[in-house]
Amino acid sequence: MDRQPRIAIGALGGTICMTVDDAAAGALPRLTAQQLVAAVPRLEGIAHITAQTLLQLPSPSLSIPDVLNALAWAEGKVAEGADGVVLIQGTDTLEETSFLLDLLWTHREPLVLTGAMRTPSAAGADGPANILAAVVCAAHPASRERGALVVMNDTIHEARWVQKTNTMSVETFQSPTFGAAGMVLEGLAQYFRPPSKRHAQRPVKLDASVRVALVESCLDEKGDMLDALVNAGYDGIVIAGYGVGHVSESEAIRIEALLPKLPIIIASRTGSGSTASRTYGFPGSEIDLARRGAIFSGWLTPRKARLLLWSLLASGAPRDSYVAAFDVWKHVSN
Ligand code: ASP
Repeated sequence: MDRQPRIAIGALGGTICMTVDDAAAGALPRLTAQQLVAAVPRLEGIAHITAQTLLQLPSPSLSIPDVLNALAWAEGKVAEGADGVVLIQGTDTLEETSFLLDLLWTHREPLVLTGAMRTPSAAGADGPANILAAVVCAAHPASRERGALVVMNDTIHEARWVQKTNTMSVETFQSPTFGAAGMVLEGLAQYFRPPSKRHAQRPVKLDASVRVALVESCLDEKGDMLDALVNAGYDGIVIAGYGVGHVSESEAIRIEALLPKLPIIIASRTGSGSTASRTYGFPGSEIDLARRGAIFSGWLTPRKARLLLWSLLASGAPRDSYVAAFDVWKHVSN
């Protein structure tokens, strides 16, 4: 590229833009995208930046419609000629928003998400360094065709695998089992492997009223909570089951009874690794649950499986296509 890359930055809120007026009141999201960008040294040497405040929310209060609005905004920036887009937000839901965006981002241009673990006034505030690294990543040609990426602590993660793993550490973002995709080093994005095969689709219409519940099975769970979710009007359920994707025998019976009403996806509550498909045969095991009609999340964590199920339901995909949509996440080699 013989001109400076054009990078559009959209800010949604989060610790990165929080200020504390009075310690008792705690940190609140207040800084604008322009103020965040102004605090980053050497940014203008890397890219031509435009910055816009889209929202000023703590990320636990972000909604799926907020994410879809940010997606539409980012798509608009690419249509206007941006070479990459950076979204700044809170870290609490970053592993989810980035994956939903990844499922829907069909462009070659990088969509990079970042945030901060420390407020701007804290010693060692990480926000400016994270914005700088995110812009370097978004501006680098090697970041193209990689969908949504999360850049924190100079480390590049694929949205599909990244998880917030620690409450306070600046190293909180990790990609268990798969590892980071790359690092930002001396002003360059360096990747450890080629881009993963992508499965993004951009449905014209997504029904934002769709609701998918995520529940965890715990010792002595009988599965009656599932009936409560159906009665509350949820359209789909993801269960973070034990181990490789197991539930108790009584929960398995409830799942089978409810499956005619709504899809139920089984993931693992362990935090890493894939669900199994042909190892255990006891009632409530993966073989038994598959026979009853449940679908397994493969390598997707429960939170990410919830968003895949949400996108299937919201796009009106036929229910018999769900098995194939989740199968993609069981065999992930390129
Ligand atoms: N602790 C969060 C953050 O890191 C707050 C949020 O997600 O908005 O930004």
